[in-house]
Amino acid sequence: MRILFVAAEVAPLVKTGGLADVAGALPAALQAAGHDVCVIMPFYQRLRAQGVAVLGPVAATFLPAGERMEECRVWRATDHPVPLYLLDIPAAFARPGIYGDGDDDRRFILFARGVLAAMQHRREVHGWIPDVVHANDWHAALVPHYCKTTLAYTFGRIGTVCTIHNLAYQGRFNPFTLALAGLTEGGLLENQWGPRVAGAFNFLARGLAASDVITTVSPTYAREIRTAEYGEGLEGLLLARQHRLVGILNGLDTRLFDPATDPHLAAPYDADAPAGKAACKAALQRELGWAEAPDRPLLGVVSRLVSQKGLDLLLDALPWLLRDTAAQLVVLGSGEHGLESAFHHAAAAHPGRLALRTGFDAALAQRIYAGTDLFLMPSRFEPCGLGQLIALRYGSVPVVRATGGLQDTVREGYEGNGFVFHPVDAGEFVGAIARALEAYRTPEGWAMLRARGMREDHGWARAAEGYGAVYRRAAAFAAG
Ligand code: ADP
Repeated sequence: MRILFVAAEVAPLVKTGGLADVAGALPAALQAAGHDVCVIMPFYQRLRAQGVAVLGPVAATFLPAGERMEECRVWRATDHPVPLYLLDIPAAFARPGIYGDGDDDRRFILFARGVLAAMQHRREVHGWIPDVVHANDWHAALVPHYCKTTLAYTFGRIGTVCTIHNLAYQGRFNPFTLALAGLTEGGLLENQWGPRVAGAFNFLARGLAASDVITTVSPTYAREIRTAEYGEGLEGLLLARQHRLVGILNGLDTRLFDPATDPHLAAPYDADAPAGKAACKAALQRELGWAEAPDRPLLGVVSRLVSQKGLDLLLDALPWLLRDTAAQLVVLGSGEHGLESAFHHAAAAHPGRLALRTGFDAALAQRIYAGTDLFLMPSRFEPCGLGQLIALRYGSVPVVRATGGLQDTVREGYEGNGFVFHPVDAGEFVGAIARALEAYRTPEGWAMLRARGMREDHGWARAAEGYGAVYRRAAAFAAG
């Protein structure tokens, strides 16, 4: 099928979160499965600074935003594995940042309009029309909305798919955005989706309402977001459209995340030859300023320090961990000041047991996955989660809360691959860590548990199959 994949971030070019990993890997997996895929994203200023090789401009036009018309040029990146188009809209992207400048509504209205202009150009010049447009997150969500409303005459028969990577980010703006978007609905569409959305211009809600199929990044999260607890105000809309809602687990880039070839590690290893993992653990302990202690359980966290990740539960569990166990803990992360300083103080008070590293450090992250015995993810919600997938592959046994993608990938018990707790409760988390530490005391059983996780296949091929089925469904809905 012909697929146009729309995203605001694409790894390795621009990445602020998991969306970029998906937009970097999934189109390539779809292409490998035989689909005709191209990707379109903003031409951020920083891409120019990075010296991204481009061809073009291959098209140029003007785009409306409110009363103004803005320039738009389309470039083609020349060294990306999948055809990649870059939208050069100076009014929106000629600035250092990616998001958060206060005019993001205008910027991503222009982006959506630019995508549609590029589609129109390719149709006229090359006769190429996608069977399906796949919009990711709120930044791209107006693309399906325009396809099914103002541009329905031209693009109404194209299948539309909207993927939610994290429902906490919806692109909510005030009703003035309506005019900026060139839309003139009498009653705001948002009003029908309940009081928590009313009055706002909600990019994501519009994309979800206009898409033939809605997807999110795990089956459990697809169920959770239909409830008030996880729905972030959009549960009414998602419940009403639940027959169109599908959860597909993200894959992992198994070439990038491979302990057998990872250049950041002290020694290579894999499930069949795990000896190198002990060397990685020793190296990590030395790097953190500790003596080598092969038998002492080493726990790791690599995470944004935000309330979503449930690390306040870990703070609550620390007194127990320090008093009743011999475990060491390394935390790599940055984010909310309160969480960062709480971990900072705890590490300063227990320098031999607890280490905190702040900032974003991909190489250290790999060394932590490789060097630790247990990996902790007590998330409040987790659309899919990449951390536990990397941890599984690197033989750091995950201890997770059963939510979203964590519930779909980590199983406790006979034939399990980790440890799981349910309620958001520090005592429950302590219980799960205690069970893990108990299992750790039996080396043979531990080695089997660890190897089971390392052997699991979380590559992108399976996800690409799932999306292929979704695209066929979306195209069928649009056609009939
Ligand atoms: P989210 O996308 O919500 O942050 P995920 O678990 O899906 O959570 O993905 C997070 C990714 O970012 C993982 O690959 C994790 O290793 C990485 N990561 C998070 N914080 C850091 C950090 N401070 N340094 C390096 N990598 C990090």
